[in-house]
Amino acid sequence: MSTNESLFERAQRVIPGGVNSPVRAFRAVGGTPRFISRAQGAWMIDAEGKRYLDYIGSWGPMILGHGHPAVLEAVQRAALDGFSFGAPTEREIELAEAIIALVPGVEQLRLVSSGTEAGMSALRLARGATGRSTIVKFEGCYHGHADALLVKAGSGLATFGHPTSAGVPAEVVQHTRVLEYNNLAQLEETFAAQGSEIACVMIEPIAGNMNFVRASVPFMTRLRELCTAHGTLLVFDEVMTGFRVALGGAHSVYARLIPGFQADLFVFGKVIGGGMPLAAFGGPKAIMQQLAPLGPVYQAGTLSGNPVATACGLATLREITKPGFYETLATRTRRLVDGLTVAARDAGVPFCGDCEGGMFGFFFGPTLPQNYTQVLATDQARFNRFFHGMLSRGVYLAPALYEAGFVSAAHTDADIDATIEAAAQALRDGA
Ligand SMILES: *Cc1c(COP(=O)(O)O)cnc(C)c1O
Repeated sequence: MSTNESLFERAQRVIPGGVNSPVRAFRAVGGTPRFISRAQGAWMIDAEGKRYLDYIGSWGPMILGHGHPAVLEAVQRAALDGFSFGAPTEREIELAEAIIALVPGVEQLRLVSSGTEAGMSALRLARGATGRSTIVKFEGCYHGHADALLVKAGSGLATFGHPTSAGVPAEVVQHTRVLEYNNLAQLEETFAAQGSEIACVMIEPIAGNMNFVRASVPFMTRLRELCTAHGTLLVFDEVMTGFRVALGGAHSVYARLIPGFQADLFVFGKVIGGGMPLAAFGGPKAIMQQLAPLGPVYQAGTLSGNPVATACGLATLREITKPGFYETLATRTRRLVDGLTVAARDAGVPFCGDCEGGMFGFFFGPTLPQNYTQVLATDQARFNRFFHGMLSRGVYLAPALYEAGFVSAAHTDADIDATIEAAAQALRDGA
């Protein structure tokens, strides 16, 4: 039995499924998860000493690669000063100021410890601020595992959603509507029928939890118009896309394409913690001041704004705001997607990919999917073979068809080219 296999067996005795977050168990692709012992730059090293080029980056946070010296130093220095105080610190202000300076429309924000917590809190705030109960989300978007958001579409148009998890009572999701991503007609109908009841629409503007699917510009434009017309808050879940697809997140991408575009509330996570448990939600002062202790919407956290996590986040933000950072990252990510596309074409395999900034996705199918149903219609069996073909060649891709991929600043052109060569080999060998 290999070391990874024996660790997995041991893990399964004490941790459900052997993992602390389900996707890590490799259930979608089969096989044994790699137990990572350390990581440096673009590389992860498993318990058997095997090296992998890492295209997960802890699911997004490691935009600088692992063990960036400036971040390491900031974290070590912060740790010496204390792990947690349960009292305010200057660093929390600095991080809030840094984020606010980068995202127009965020006047205030509150720090929390996970994207789930941020999404859940933004939802409560949206409901509290509007005095409405109904919320709208889109099939295939993930906003963390708060009960009200663990919902899939029912049959028929804009019907009541069904819980996607046991333990979520139907009553808890009765106010959640689940619509198809990029389906303009369904959006119009939902607002026509109950627009005045909708507290907020929560969306991943570039959805990274169904691989990589962009909200179309007409869809996003109309969504904004409908929200404005009905007094509904538009909540951008940028936990994945924030500071990842561009310095200003996906919001800056849409603001470039749609004149005057502005979301109402924002949810951040992943990159802003640089790998530490840190997330945030923010928006206009008038809405944010509905939060306790100023307003009636309760929200709190023992470790919120943790001094070591904020040091890590701040050091990360300092690096990514350096001139040219995103240009280089985007060029490298594009090089990867283009290279994979050529490799697949040479192998005669239907393939398409897309990317923005340092985030990418690819599908074994002829055209880019526009919604979750279309994502699931791509060739999953081939994806799984490809995943293992790449893993065995030392390239660590997300172990599921419905996950985005991430390139870091530590990935070199040579790393990208080696990845493309591995893909060409894997596809030639029938992956
Ligand atoms: C990862 C993610 C979350 C949840 O964040 P956690 O830190 O895992 O709780 C929420 N929304 C989006 C878009 C995400 O990608």
